[in-house]
Amino acid sequence: MSKPQTDHEKRKQISVRGIAEVEDVNAIKKTFNRHLHYTLVKDRNVATTRDYYFALAHTVRDHLVSRWIRTQQHYYEKDPKRVYYLSLEFYMGRSLQNTMINIGIQSPVDEALYQLGLDIEELEELEEDAGLGNGGLGRLAACFLDSMATLGMAAYGYGIRYEYGIFAQKIRNGEQVEEPDDWLRFGNPWEKARPEYMIPINFFGNVIDTPNGKKWVNTQVVFALPYDNPIPGYNNNVVNTLRLWSAKSPTDFNLKFFNDGDYIQAVLDRNLAENISRVLYPNDNFFEGKELRLKQEYFMVAATLQDIIRRYKAAKFGSKEAVRTNFDYLPDKVAIQLNDTHPSLAIPELMRLLVDVEGLSWEKAWDITTRTCAYTNHTVLPEALERWPVTMLQSILPRHLEIVYQINFLHLKDVENKWPGDWDKLRAMSLIEEDGEKRVNMAHLSIVGSHAVNGVARLHSEIIKDDLFKNFYELTPEKFQNKTNGITPRRWLLLCNPALSDVISDKIGEDWIVHLDELKKIKKWAKDPNFQRSIMKVKQENKLRLAEMLEKEYKVKINPASMFDIHVKRIHEYKRQLLNCMHIITLYNRIKKNPTANITPRTIMIGGKAAPGYHTAKLIIKLILAVAKVVNNDPIVGDKLKVIFLENYRVTLAEKIIPAADLSEQISTAGTEASGTGNMKFQLNGALTIGTLDGANVEMAEEMGNENIFIFGMTVDEVEALKKKGYNAYDYYSNNPELKQVVDQIHNGFFSPENSDEFKHLADILLKWDRFYLLADYEAYIKKQDEVSAVYQNQVKWLEMCINNIATSGKFSSDRTIIEYGKEIWGVNPSYDKLPAPHEPRE
Ligand SMILES: *Cc1c(COP(=O)(O)O)cnc(C)c1O
Repeated sequence: MSKPQTDHEKRKQISVRGIAEVEDVNAIKKTFNRHLHYTLVKDRNVATTRDYYFALAHTVRDHLVSRWIRTQQHYYEKDPKRVYYLSLEFYMGRSLQNTMINIGIQSPVDEALYQLGLDIEELEELEEDAGLGNGGLGRLAACFLDSMATLGMAAYGYGIRYEYGIFAQKIRNGEQVEEPDDWLRFGNPWEKARPEYMIPINFFGNVIDTPNGKKWVNTQVVFALPYDNPIPGYNNNVVNTLRLWSAKSPTDFNLKFFNDGDYIQAVLDRNLAENISRVLYPNDNFFEGKELRLKQEYFMVAATLQDIIRRYKAAKFGSKEAVRTNFDYLPDKVAIQLNDTHPSLAIPELMRLLVDVEGLSWEKAWDITTRTCAYTNHTVLPEALERWPVTMLQSILPRHLEIVYQINFLHLKDVENKWPGDWDKLRAMSLIEEDGEKRVNMAHLSIVGSHAVNGVARLHSEIIKDDLFKNFYELTPEKFQNKTNGITPRRWLLLCNPALSDVISDKIGEDWIVHLDELKKIKKWAKDPNFQRSIMKVKQENKLRLAEMLEKEYKVKINPASMFDIHVKRIHEYKRQLLNCMHIITLYNRIKKNPTANITPRTIMIGGKAAPGYHTAKLIIKLILAVAKVVNNDPIVGDKLKVIFLENYRVTLAEKIIPAADLSEQISTAGTEASGTGNMKFQLNGALTIGTLDGANVEMAEEMGNENIFIFGMTVDEVEALKKKGYNAYDYYSNNPELKQVVDQIHNGFFSPENSDEFKHLADILLKWDRFYLLADYEAYIKKQDEVSAVYQNQVKWLEMCINNIATSGKFSSDRTIIEYGKEIWGVNPSYDKLPAPHEPRE
């Protein structure tokens, strides 16, 4: 045995490809010291580790600047079609290591910091996550930005610079409490404010008729101040832009107060306008119809569209520089992708700009709008679909409401044409829902105003055609598409799992980083003992590192030989963390009943945030914590079973957990999870999946073969049949003694001795009103978990399955997803050409 390596040596060995140039290292040290001195205004006697982090971040940022400027100049000169990805969420996580990796300076920076006597990993831990998202939808937007830059597309992300991102989850007295995420407290070294591009945004007011058409007047104005964030592509010298808007009060805000003499009050009231970008709404897959949220959505859309049109007009087209005034070419030069309906006001806003401001005819404007916009649907859950009250739109956006009514009038004519005299169709397809409070159905608006509508996995795209949007599919079948989600292999393998990356690269080279399909080449070593051993070694090291971290944090002893069974995602009834919890209780009951039986030891980890107002989800967290307390402190159980609730699950925690997983839990009720992307991250990192035939699990199983995944439970058709026949949970409860015991324990306070009613509500849901059929899938789930345990005992078989999982994960690269969006929706092709590096001459 050679002597153990230091962390630095390990990192150097595993993540360095090519030799760090001495010159680069010296230059980096110099830049770092310059930033410590001139930017942080510190010397090494008084500098804190945070000062060192900021000096490092600024050093790395310097390496982005020329690439960023040159990329934007290149786009200006070439005038390619621009792609605009509009999203209320961008769940970016940290930027430092991702930037170093993508621009290829990680190894000289590592070496420079080592020579300076600093621990780079300790500094990296000081970066706050940019948590401007809730879960999968926001993280998808972040993966897409990485892929679009890596594929050389002239793409822009547009969103809101929330001052407070997703709350920090703390566990106190056995339950979730929320703390505000004050992520900008120490400043954000990655962003650049652009006050010179500030844009006025109007709210409220009224609409008047003028000889030149309708005008929106007497509005209240809030300014949108852009902050630009660099998005480096991998190894191609491309740096794209994520532009995030911050609300800024106009100088003359509430001037009437000032004239009244209440100057102090006028200044204080500036906060009111600036509240628009204060905080991210913490709901995942749930619509909360709050006025402030509607203002956020319009604020982002209105600022973005003005920016898009400014850039369109200023473009130099052909060879001559000119102001482009003809909007006929807008759909040839601009693609706008709507990430769910959250930015769907882009449709009436673009109509307003083209008709009211630019003076186009309605027909012309509508043709341009529909050919420019495309809509991605992310859910079929009714409680998640946005339906804004007409009264709220009337007050805040009166002109947009008129435009929506006009769109609806013309749309219903088309419906009437297709189905003459069918009043049910008219009612079902109207943009305006008339039962109860009048509301605008934003999904209907998005479909009508777009040339393409896509679901995010094959199964989900079929469900929206056959069910949710059936009528619209029959009206305009050509609009409907599928774009199965993906994840970026840079962050979700190269960055988070350098040891596995190296084992792979040693066998097949590094092409997989940008062509993930290359991973299929490792399949031929699935049974190779040496390759299996190297895969096992990496997993074991990752598990040990995670165990060490968790033991420090939670003071529980973890058995690193146990199966790491991991269920991390937002806490939601449809995701069925409660079903997992019922498996835990079943295992516990079995151990208690038969303490000497030989079982496969497991460390079961569940993590995720519950929306602060979602009481049932919070109660599920409480139950998991209560079960963990009982299980972990029972001496009979020992190290056969440990249960850990992972606090504050977020992008940075995902990067640490997923590489250490043996088993990935993807157990939503079939038909409820549109795609899932967590499932893909686990597959790529060599965990096996236990899952239902839901979302992208279906395609994962297809890629790897059913022999490499643990599929259980009802299919969508079986769920539908059960719904039709009538679901009676008691049938399952009465016929399965293990299940009955579990439900009874939840019901009677077995896990809450101090309050026997604590979890009664959960048992009541399970038996009476369960929309997600947990009891119907319980038996199949437990059976499949027993099979998982048995296979884990056969490590040769298990490792073969792990390798087959990794080898078939190529489809789930977001590069593949983006290439498909480009070809089939945007009319944009990837460019694999590298731009010249900063030290190279420009072409
Ligand atoms: C990938 C990811 C998600 C999405 O996970 P699902 O299992 O697909 O719901 C949520 N949160 C974070 C932090 C993620 O990285």
